[in-house]
Amino acid sequence: MKKEEFYDLLESIPKAELHVHEEAVLSRETVKKVYKRNFNQDMSDEEFNSLFEYDDLTGFLSSFIKIQSYFTNINDFEYMFKDFEAYLNKNNIIYCETFFSPTSHLKKGWSFHDMISIVQKNIERIKENSGRTVKLIVDVSRSFGVENAMKNLDLVLAEKNPYIVGIGLGGDEKKGPAAEYKDVFVKAKENGLHVVTHAGESCGVFSMKDSLELCKAERLGHGIAAAQDADFMKYLAENKIPLEVCPTSNIFILKEFNGDMKNHPVKKLYDAGVFVTLNTDDPTFFKVSLIDEYWNIYKDQNFSLDEIKEIIKNGYKAAFISKEEKDDYCKNVDSAWDAWFKKHPDAN
Ligand SMILES: [Zn+2]
Repeated sequence: MKKEEFYDLLESIPKAELHVHEEAVLSRETVKKVYKRNFNQDMSDEEFNSLFEYDDLTGFLSSFIKIQSYFTNINDFEYMFKDFEAYLNKNNIIYCETFFSPTSHLKKGWSFHDMISIVQKNIERIKENSGRTVKLIVDVSRSFGVENAMKNLDLVLAEKNPYIVGIGLGGDEKKGPAAEYKDVFVKAKENGLHVVTHAGESCGVFSMKDSLELCKAERLGHGIAAAQDADFMKYLAENKIPLEVCPTSNIFILKEFNGDMKNHPVKKLYDAGVFVTLNTDDPTFFKVSLIDEYWNIYKDQNFSLDEIKEIIKNGYKAAFISKEEKDDYCKNVDSAWDAWFKKHPDAN
């Protein structure tokens, strides 16, 4: 199938995304706008360009935290959610679990409750405008230590907000092993929250095993290290543990792929029976959208259209929603898929 046709098909299919960081959907124009509003001057080209130049995870994470520092007014979340809504619409994402990383903002003295209230208002506006559902996974973050992560969890538990479905462990695995965060995650689980971790991105399979065994993670962010270990891939497949795979993010940040999508192990994982979902991680930073990501794996990884449809459905099957909701969403994928092919009988 040609690119234009593929995009047309994918735009017509309601999709889920499970691994996308909220700030990473801010458009580049909004970054400049927020900067100007808050610092009363234009952002220099040098500073702007430096935000998007990095060749490893550390460089990327410091850009992420720098952009958070441009938010000096809690109402800047409004800008963020306008861009977020546009991103969901453009990609026809009908269900999204997004990471919300409060630590940098809490350090400015902003209250968790105030932030979540604004976020909730925006989530409800999006639902009203387009019927799209957004839920939050609070990234307790491994970049700021265990004590900070536990504080974040306590704020989540005190808040009891219906849009917060779980907590996550983002940041660089090398600097914050999952094992250290065991108590935070066990406590979250005991209190009814879902738990996910970034694991097997910059560290090996041990980090994924620690996440599953010690932190009781229900999904793993990235998880591409598994491709190096046939036994572990078999374990993941047999236990139906979903991976939130984000190929372009890995190609951007990890050197071993030499910048080439063809070298990414997403097809290897899929062919081994691993429960693969497809995500963007940080669309603005990696100049990628969810539909681009589907196109990338179709073009460069030899996924068939049927396999693309299955991965789209996996996004719902791995979501933190009821069995009935999963079934309904999957049925909608089938009917939108059939409707598109009915309209384009010559497509294949
Ligand atoms: Zn991530």
